[in-house]
Amino acid sequence: MERNNAWKTYDNEQLEAVEALAKRYRAFLDAGKTERECVREAVKRAEARGFAPMASVTSAKPGDRLYVNWMGKALMLFIVGEKPLSDGANIVGAHIDSPRLDVKQNPLYEDTGIAYLDTHYYGGIKKYQWVTLPLAIHGVVAKVDGSVIELSIGEDPDDPVVGVSDLLPHLAQDQMTKKASLVIEGDMLNVIVGDRPLPDGEEKEKEPVKKAILKLIEEKYGFEEEDFLSAELEIVPAGKARDFGLDRSMIMGYGHDDRVCAYAALEALFDQTEVPARTCVCLLSDKEEIGSVGATGMQARYFENAMAELMALTGDYSELKLRRALANCRMLSCDVSAAFDPNFAGVFEKKNAAYLGRGVCFNKFTGSRGKYDSNDANAEFIAALRNLFDTAGVNFQTAELGKVDIGGGGTIAYICALYGMEVIDSGVPVLSMHAPWEIIDKADLYESVRAYAAFMDAK
Ligand code: MN
Ligand code: MN
Repeated sequence: MERNNAWKTYDNEQLEAVEALAKRYRAFLDAGKTERECVREAVKRAEARGFAPMASVTSAKPGDRLYVNWMGKALMLFIVGEKPLSDGANIVGAHIDSPRLDVKQNPLYEDTGIAYLDTHYYGGIKKYQWVTLPLAIHGVVAKVDGSVIELSIGEDPDDPVVGVSDLLPHLAQDQMTKKASLVIEGDMLNVIVGDRPLPDGEEKEKEPVKKAILKLIEEKYGFEEEDFLSAELEIVPAGKARDFGLDRSMIMGYGHDDRVCAYAALEALFDQTEVPARTCVCLLSDKEEIGSVGATGMQARYFENAMAELMALTGDYSELKLRRALANCRMLSCDVSAAFDPNFAGVFEKKNAAYLGRGVCFNKFTGSRGKYDSNDANAEFIAALRNLFDTAGVNFQTAELGKVDIGGGGTIAYICALYGMEVIDSGVPVLSMHAPWEIIDKADLYESVRAYAAFMDAK
């Protein structure tokens, strides 16, 4: 089949657009290293384009641009369409949480003169990849007086970084014979934060390094040890996203999964300059990497509630109409796909694999071992999408996530499908997915924005 998994040739004007988009995306990635930071950055960009908080308006009409910031960790942006909401909306959804190391509630300890933060990893990681890297601390510390301190340590070139040590090869004979899953175990992901004791005379006898770190934290960042109890601190790779490859065709960055799709969805929404026929939605969810759980994960009801609020604002709410609206939605569940890696060709099936640089990828189903747990989009819906993207000249490819009995992996598709809406997984192919530094191709980002924009615009 020649149509599938093919490169597209770009003219100079298109290549300039690809580069400009890549630059905007890199800036978004650098500013958004946590779900909270991504929401903040998305809101900033949305407000600059006329979006207002849904709670700030008393009515809504076609063309209105509204958003709901859900607990600072999930975000829904709407452009109200001409058609009644009970006809459904065109939703492009992605997630903005990424694998990382989360700081425990009682994290700070000293062992043999080194002070550490104890962590519990978040999402599916290969633990051995997270050692000997410069890491940064991002997040919030909520204090009992109600104030919240925002932290970002390790991104400015003048900032210190933190990190996890590994064993030198000279002493690693035993370690090197272990299974990769045991080379570095979860309990060993202890982040070094200091090794200098308090000066003589200041409680030198007991945990002097930990005490010195606590003193520094109090003076520099304004919180104390007890405040870790109500903190959300995420340890992430320090540093900026970079152009990757001598030809600069790719981007290496932290959190492409799934901020590349989130950013493409945002730009696609911002591309809607006219009043759309159907209401357009950009839906950015949290907690996908740990099963879309919790109040900010997709399994929570915030999207349904926001749709109900919006219908009420248009003066057209009833329980039945809400159910119709949700069932009549069409959705691209946008999440990254595994890019074919020639180094690991054995886990892919070449005819049904996603390739770097060959366009936005569609996964009819993502499950494995008998398609278990997959969404399995309807053929009729896929046919409509083919028509839409062929007309818009979008370069797309189709894939499964790995060989029949190897792959698998969930997204938010199956959750939204519970309402009965048409939904399919779509996204950007990624090399080294879930590694601290992942790789995408700029052309795939570009085709994703074009695909999502055409989808939102569909009648
Ligand atoms: Mn993902
Ligand atoms: Mn993931």
